[in-house]
Amino acid sequence: MTASIATGEIILVVGGGISGMTAALEAAECGKRVVLVEKSPTLGGRTALLYRYFPKLCHPTCGLEINLRQLKANRNIRLMTMAEVVNIEGTRGRYTASIKISPRHVNENCTACGDCAKAVSTRIPNPFNYGMGTMPAAYLPHAMAYPQRYVIDPAIIGTPEADAAKAACKVGAIELDAREETVDITVAAVIWATGWQPYDAAKIQPYGYGLYRNVITSVEFERLADPHGPTGGKLLRPSDGKEARNIAFIQCAGSRDENHLRHCSRICCMASLKQTQYVSEAVGTEGRSTIYYIDIRAIDRFEDFYQKVMKDPTVRFVKSKVASIAEDVKTGDVVLHGVDTEGYHRYASTHDLAVLAIGMTPSVPAGNIPAEVIADSSGFIEASAAGSGIFGAGCATNALDVNRAVQSSTAAALRAIQVVNQLAREEA
Ligand SMILES: Cc1cc2nc3c(=O)[nH]c(=O)nc-3n(C[C@H](O)[C@H](O)[C@H](O)COP(=O)(O)OP(=O)(O)OC[C@H]3O[C@@H](n4cnc5c(N)ncnc54)[C@H](O)[C@@H]3O)c2cc1C
Ligand code: SF4
Ligand code: SF4
Repeated sequence: MTASIATGEIILVVGGGISGMTAALEAAECGKRVVLVEKSPTLGGRTALLYRYFPKLCHPTCGLEINLRQLKANRNIRLMTMAEVVNIEGTRGRYTASIKISPRHVNENCTACGDCAKAVSTRIPNPFNYGMGTMPAAYLPHAMAYPQRYVIDPAIIGTPEADAAKAACKVGAIELDAREETVDITVAAVIWATGWQPYDAAKIQPYGYGLYRNVITSVEFERLADPHGPTGGKLLRPSDGKEARNIAFIQCAGSRDENHLRHCSRICCMASLKQTQYVSEAVGTEGRSTIYYIDIRAIDRFEDFYQKVMKDPTVRFVKSKVASIAEDVKTGDVVLHGVDTEGYHRYASTHDLAVLAIGMTPSVPAGNIPAEVIADSSGFIEASAAGSGIFGAGCATNALDVNRAVQSSTAAALRAIQVVNQLAREEA
């Protein structure tokens, strides 16, 4: 089904992570009308899936909750979740965006009571834990989810389980016959804030991801450390559930490598430094973290954090690009092979768990972003074409930490506001 919605001098923000939320709020607080489109069922993006933020190690709830509160209160923002921009046509000041909306099968009456989840037995892989563990096919994405509204997964639509979920709902919130629809909206400017995704670790064959269960990625480690994650915050290794105490962090996994990603992902040194502190927090002085690195890139204000971690007696640094990982089949331990470039000696070091500091790539490939936007060789948005009204924001433009993503989004909002103001002047 295709429909049109009322238009005007609207700014379209594509992507509801911290960058999209920031850009939407900045524009809305300047009195502009904003449509914020998010592909998943909830706002927050990948920031909501971090256990803690560097450098202060506070919880993501801190920053996100403030944004969410402001967003809920701002009547200039129209939010569309489970919605994806599939096409944009037109020119600066007048674009038509086609938005595909997938059915949630749950309407605004939902009180997030959870009765529908209790009524279904089918479980699906949990994407909010990067596929570690499962969740019921009627689910709330995560504790911080906004909207706080359940989703009925397509896996059970048309089955007796869906009927059972509907019967369990006391407020009539479940709509099993909802269908996918496409909506066209006319907007003056577009902010493209579709963020990043982890590089596919299975492509780095010498590291055995997907083959050895105790080789995981840094994004998965964030979920392991989180009390809301698949292990309740315990650092239990996937093969046997044993508590991991001796953990290897492998830097530049996929990044700075001609065979994979040429760019430095910029965040992953800081992410590993931060994650060594999760180990100390979980297992105290018995924890052992070893960072295998080419060089540590802790820029600007992060240098202090790096210095602090260097003084931590539970953390060891080995200057080396790990060549390969093997598995001790008897114990499930991982054995790292390489050459320590400071002492120039070969090592074969055994650890409970290896965490790949995985590279960051744009979540929407360059070929799928609007043609008016110019991508760099890694697929990140480098610039807008001259005279364009489409602007990149946050990690769609580069591998950025939250602070820099927010700064880039404020800049994008300003440029979009200028388009709307110029349009208003021309029409006056
Ligand atoms: C292991 C690791 C740890 C990190 N830890 C920290 C930390 O401690 N501190 C810190 O400052 N930074 C950290 N970062 C970086 C942080 O995750 C990013 O800065 C942040 O996620 C950027 O937010 P974003 O909104 O730009 O992108 P995202 O978080 O990726 O959000 C993009 C949003 O766009 C949506 N989307 C994608 N495509 C579409 C589409 N076609 N249509 C509609 N919506 C779409 C997505 O569903 C998502 O909600 C870490 C990164 C890694 C890899
Ligand atoms: S859909 Fe109904 S049963 Fe499910 S959480 Fe919402 S209100 Fe509760
Ligand atoms: S930030 Fe560090 S780990 Fe990440 S690619 Fe750059 S140097 Fe490698």
